Amino acid sequence: MRVDVAVIGGGVTGLGVARDLAQRGVTVALFEKGDLASGTSGRSHGLLHSGARYAVKDPVSASECAQENRILKKIASHVIEDTGGMFVAVEESDLEYERVFLDGCKKSGVRVEELSIKESLSREPYLNPNVVATYLVDDAAIDPFRLALANFLDAKSNNAQIFTYTPVRLLVEQGEVTGVRLIKSGENVHADIVVNATGAWAGEVCRQAGIKLEVKPNKGTLVVVSKRIVNTVLNRLRPPSDGDILVPHQTTMILGTTSTYVRTPDNLLPTRKEIKLIVMEEEKLVPLVRRLRVIRAFSGARPLLEGGSGREAARTFLVIDHDESGVKGLITVTGGKLTTYRLMAEKTADLVCAKLGVRAPCSTDKEELPEVPVKSTLERYEALEGELRDGKEVVCECEMVTRSEVEKAFNVLAARTLGDVKRRTRMGMGECQAQMCAYRVADLMAESFGFGADEALNMLSDFLREQWKISRVLEGSQKAQTEFFKTMYRLAGSLDG
Ligand SMILES: Cc1cc2nc3c(=O)[nH]c(=O)nc-3n(C[C@H](O)[C@H](O)[C@H](O)COP(=O)(O)OP(=O)(O)OC[C@H]3O[C@@H](n4cnc5c(N)ncnc54)[C@H](O)[C@@H]3O)c2cc1C
Repeated sequence: MRVDVAVIGGGVTGLGVARDLAQRGVTVALFEKGDLASGTSGRSHGLLHSGARYAVKDPVSASECAQENRILKKIASHVIEDTGGMFVAVEESDLEYERVFLDGCKKSGVRVEELSIKESLSREPYLNPNVVATYLVDDAAIDPFRLALANFLDAKSNNAQIFTYTPVRLLVEQGEVTGVRLIKSGENVHADIVVNATGAWAGEVCRQAGIKLEVKPNKGTLVVVSKRIVNTVLNRLRPPSDGDILVPHQTTMILGTTSTYVRTPDNLLPTRKEIKLIVMEEEKLVPLVRRLRVIRAFSGARPLLEGGSGREAARTFLVIDHDESGVKGLITVTGGKLTTYRLMAEKTADLVCAKLGVRAPCSTDKEELPEVPVKSTLERYEALEGELRDGKEVVCECEMVTRSEVEKAFNVLAARTLGDVKRRTRMGMGECQAQMCAYRVADLMAESFGFGADEALNMLSDFLREQWKISRVLEGSQKAQTEFFKTMYRLAGSLDG
């Protein structure tokens, strides 16, 4: 196989690069070792930053976020819930940060507006009644999975080839990167340029060509609670710290986060201590959080580019032409944020096109991303009457996922496993955490998608094992529920996740 450009990494950045290049008529193949958005992109808070969070420490990143926030609200409105955001001072000591925060926002072009405490409490009745100052910003909730899928669909419609579950290594010949080698099949794919869009794994890929790139994986943990009791993104007004953001997502809320450097971005799991810390801190913003059920927690790795404390490191991005340090054929894009993925892709594609002599300009800031052919949970609830009237079969009651959406996940959105269906439809992301729907979808896989019974059972087992990994750090009724279902699956299906 031969292409103009091989992209490594199927997170939002790699998919954004594939989309941008394909729109400009470049032939692209993208290789992802797992599923789309199964790396950091699918483990984020899902906050479309206004830039305010970075306004003091990292004004460049703040301006980039502010600019991309406006663009994404235009081109990707269907994957965004425009909740607005608030920065909230909950203690008198938080007010020491108020002046630098407002100055930083002004200098970075981040819109901020003071809100009276009375108005904030009427807007968010569960907010801590003792708050001392509140400011409105342009934060929003963005669905990282649907964002990735929309980029995938657009890239495919412009003839990009996208391969999931295909880990690759750089193909290096006489000191030059000439393509990638597919690790499972041993096949070589030749390309004029390889784009390394592997986020926190970027240093690892660079090493394959003898390049030293300092990308330090920085672990962040997030906690999902079962009820949505606020409708605005809430941020603590203080220097960025642990447990100071709360994002309403569909029918849940995601609380976070933490920041610890780790050796590798692989297999990160939350600890009980992190979960407790996050809940304790978020309680200061919304006291009722303490009474909500923690249904899930997960961790991801930020691709940070500099040393110092994780909170000090810049959140801007780098596009590196390794030709400048003597290795032809390789460009790395890393760092940044989910919010700035499109800009990162644009700058990378500009560099690729300059090298290939392609003159077509970038149009991703104007062209809307395509609709994703499965609904969000909120859209499903809105359409609930219609769904029931049409007699559509619901396979996941918590998230109201229908059988036809599972079919689309397989037929249109390249799902291959139960985990892929979860990322595409939210099947299993609700209160019961897939205990009731996993076996139904496995059954569908055997019945309608040509999987053998044993294969479907193995997939169910793998999926449940992944779901249950978290049970050792859960507590209370969620732990009891998980243990109950584990026993049920063991007894009824001889399944041992
Ligand atoms: C806890 C946490 C919360 C965050 N919250 C937010 C937020 O709310 N808003 C925001 O804007 N940003 C947020 N971020 C940052 C944001 O998620 C990341 O910057 C962004 O998702 C990175 O996307 P990416 O595509 O560059 O990397 P990734 O999504 O990690 O994609 C890289 C991909 O490369 C693949 N890969 C690696 N090696 C290979 C190989 N050899 N072959 C094939 N594939 C390979 C990986 O499997 C992975 O899927 C958060 C980050 C963390 C950790």
